[in-house]
Amino acid sequence: DTVFTHPVAVAAKFDGTGRALPCASGISDDLFTSDGQITKRPVRALALSALAPQPGEVLWDIGGGSGSISVEWCLSHPRNTATCVETRPDRAAHIRSNAQSFGLDHRLSVVEGMAPDALADLSAPDAVFIGGGLSEALLDELHARLASGTRLVAHAVTLESEALLAEWSGRIGGDLMRIELASAAPLGTRRGWVPARPIVQWQVVL
Ligand code: SAH
Repeated sequence: DTVFTHPVAVAAKFDGTGRALPCASGISDDLFTSDGQITKRPVRALALSALAPQPGEVLWDIGGGSGSISVEWCLSHPRNTATCVETRPDRAAHIRSNAQSFGLDHRLSVVEGMAPDALADLSAPDAVFIGGGLSEALLDELHARLASGTRLVAHAVTLESEALLAEWSGRIGGDLMRIELASAAPLGTRRGWVPARPIVQWQVVL
């Protein structure tokens, strides 16, 4: 629990060049193994800000993908731990690989399965991130089961999941935010903005 916990030490292990990892959340996407299904750097920074990790806390990362949210959760403090729930075996493998690369395999675990069923045996979290698998059944289960004071952050990209977040935030509160980003890219001989799909973030303390 001591050797690779400091971000700088992790970076030295990670790429062998001694390149230091930033101490702020929202590290470069190319530090992670993924198939492209990853919460991109600026959006990940907003997720971590909303999750607001504190020392020694436990995260559930539902729809773990590459595990990037969990990795950054664990990097935020040497005693923090995370469990990813991911239904696709190939992506579960990416999560394990990233956990190992960052020296976090003792603090970042993966449950291969579908939420909400796969949550059954997990011990209580301090915060929950939903990056995939958002459904009425999942929100019902979390709302019924999680202790009051648990922080919940969900990201929606589809109209259907966005509608769920609109309904639930209207019912139990919290903050809804729409994240609309654009990046500059070549447009003929000049440059133009390429907008990313909007993401709706719901942040609530249960
Ligand atoms: N935050 C992730 C990206 C999430 S992409 C990252 O930064 O890498 C959403 C993921 O949710 C996909 O990998 C998908 O396979 C997974 N998923 C979708 N429905 C799920 C469910 N019901 N249970 C678990 N995982 C699910």
